[in-house]
Amino acid sequence: MIRGKHLIGGEWLGSESSFKSSPAKGKTHEFNIGTPKLIDKAAKKAEEAFSSYGYISRKERSQFLKNISEEIDKRGDEITEIGSQETGLPEIRLEGERARTVGQLRLFAEHIENGDYLDRRHDIALPNRVPLPRPDLHLIQRPIGPVAIFGASNFPLAFSVAGGDTAAALAAGCPVIVKGHSAHPGTSDIVAQAIDDSIKACGIHPGTVSVVQGGSREVGQALVQHPLIKAVGFTGSLTGGKALFDLCSAREEPIPFFGELGSVNPMFLLPKAITNRGSDIASGWVSSLTMGAGQFCTNPGIAIVIDGTDAEKFIKETASLLSKLESQIMLTDGISKAYRDGCERMSSFNAVGQLNNESEINRAALPQLFVTTGETWLTNFELSEEVFGPSGLVVKTKDLNEMIEIAKKLTGQLTCTLHMDKDDQNEAKILLPILERKAGRILANGFPTGVEVCDSMVHGGPFPASTNFGATSVGTMSIRRFLRPVCFQNMPKYMLPSDVK
Ligand code: NAP
Repeated sequence: MIRGKHLIGGEWLGSESSFKSSPAKGKTHEFNIGTPKLIDKAAKKAEEAFSSYGYISRKERSQFLKNISEEIDKRGDEITEIGSQETGLPEIRLEGERARTVGQLRLFAEHIENGDYLDRRHDIALPNRVPLPRPDLHLIQRPIGPVAIFGASNFPLAFSVAGGDTAAALAAGCPVIVKGHSAHPGTSDIVAQAIDDSIKACGIHPGTVSVVQGGSREVGQALVQHPLIKAVGFTGSLTGGKALFDLCSAREEPIPFFGELGSVNPMFLLPKAITNRGSDIASGWVSSLTMGAGQFCTNPGIAIVIDGTDAEKFIKETASLLSKLESQIMLTDGISKAYRDGCERMSSFNAVGQLNNESEINRAALPQLFVTTGETWLTNFELSEEVFGPSGLVVKTKDLNEMIEIAKKLTGQLTCTLHMDKDDQNEAKILLPILERKAGRILANGFPTGVEVCDSMVHGGPFPASTNFGATSVGTMSIRRFLRPVCFQNMPKYMLPSDVK
């Protein structure tokens, strides 16, 4: 049952005003609007919780994470029902996303158990060293304190209330305040109930997780500016992310803002690969491009290919496959409008539409395919910007040199892909060092959607893919965002944190 309130320090609190959800289907629900006052209360509770939660054993934190995953699974049907109503995502997709979400929680539970993530270092004392003795030095990673997390619109579970950012912060030992996304407040509400029950079952401090619903811009701004907040995790738009990043930097005590913003995930189709496997690449691209109505941050939005017969065949086949697909419901009215505007922007910068689709109405999005030349792309920055949705752009270059120019001109990306056969290796070896400087993950002969949650994953990249190129928001290394190295010098053993010992 939806409560329509905020979970703050173990209490379900209301506020004076409310907003109505706008689901893709089904009935609307009413939710209390988040306020700066509620944020202040949640932040104080989180700080209070830190002196307890930040110091419990890794085993206890691990049990807590596992318990949250169980509580979420118990509410599986309820979550799928409300989630698919709110977002318009198919039930099967939400079930898959729930599996990923509980998998992330369990992965972090296991990850902290052996303590490797603490990166423990010890330089033993050398009292007789000349000319100067060396003190005894222990380095260990410590949790940073209360963390703010913004639920993402495009992953109502895996990047929302109990998503990857929350799992990483809780695993690190940091209390969390989540600002729920107004695209799926009911889903956030049910997941918050799961966490509330886990807190009680595991005897965790009630200020460890608070969930404040949105409904007003003020609430997000108050959250990132609150002096007790020590870092922010965010997935969303470049505009929204940059605005919040600027607020974090302008604070009296600036704090890190780990924003995952925009990426077009370019694919470079090398000559032998397109000759030998152009049709397979076209069908793989179409699946990846349209997956989840194209609303994945790793959606491969641009294919770069050297002009010629193979390129034309590739475009024709891609267009033919896309034209057979039906429209899909987008997550929000705003995202749907942004998609239509993005497609219009393509045409206004001389990218030629390939499909005779009627324009999308309401939240339904039809795939789109545009084609432009390397020269046009290089002179119109707008063509390199993300269109969030199932829209693809093929850039035909006159030769390899122009392809290299495009690689050099790219802004930061989450992923770049090389489609290459063995005989393409000379070209690939020129491109790889360029792409390595542009993206957090580089693929050979694959498609970037479907981000594996594991130890080696990097989901981040130079700006604007993310605001902090040293970090990832997926995979076990994402815990590092919420840790800080501390060195203990000549500290008596009985004073050292138990993790050091
Ligand atoms: P968004 O507009 O950036 O919003 C994300 C979160 O930030 C929301 O909670 C929003 O609050 C808050 N926010 C945004 N601007 C703010 C500001 N100036 N001050 C305070 N809070 C602010 O993203 P979205 O709603 O998820 O989707 C909009 C667009 O973002 C999409 O069309 C797409 O282009 C892009 N997007 C990209 C990715 C990606 O992974 N690359 C993922 C999701 C979305 P409110 O709810 O109050 O607005």
